[in-house]
Amino acid sequence: MLPYSAGEAFSFQEFCSRILRDFEIARIGGAFLSLWGLALFILFCWGKLMIMTIFSKIIKGEIPSYKIAENDQFFAFLDINPMMPGHTLIVPKVEIDRFFDVPDVFLQNWLAFAKPIARAIEAVVPCDRVGITVMGLEVPHAHMHLVPINSADDVNFTRPKLKMEPAAFIAVQEKIVEALNSQV
Ligand code: AMP
Repeated sequence: MLPYSAGEAFSFQEFCSRILRDFEIARIGGAFLSLWGLALFILFCWGKLMIMTIFSKIIKGEIPSYKIAENDQFFAFLDINPMMPGHTLIVPKVEIDRFFDVPDVFLQNWLAFAKPIARAIEAVVPCDRVGITVMGLEVPHAHMHLVPINSADDVNFTRPKLKMEPAAFIAVQEKIVEALNSQV
């Protein structure tokens, strides 16, 4: 409501008190709306954090990982429950659940990013070759497993995983990274 209306008689004092009252209402209303805005913003951020996959949190550095390499599109790190030492996961930074929903341009770049990493793994982990597996049954964020293999059993994901100490992870991480960096 306006502090005064046409034709209404009021004193200067009354005019000032109405202005001040309306100003106070506007101030309280503004503060109330700001608080709501802040609450909604916090809720939005919290929701974003909660729905981020564990791999996105690793990529953002919110969860530690044994990083092997990254570029603007992909992030590679050691699998925490490896089939073999050197078992590496390659994840696109864009969060898409299913491998075959990933746009073609990423699929192409994905293999190009994986190739030198697979070579580095082969160079430092005793194995016949590096195999590729894609499943995504556990983490809904498309990823490729690079596993050094000697037999098909090395990619039998139903068998018990290796138990490795942090020092063993760090040792294999350092070797792979060094081999990767020494490629021309
Ligand atoms: P899948 O989704 O079935 O292809 O498997 C997901 C893989 O992610 C498993 O091999 C897990 O050991 C691995 N994994 C889950 N959480 C982590 C983590 N925090 N760091 C590294 N690897 C992980």
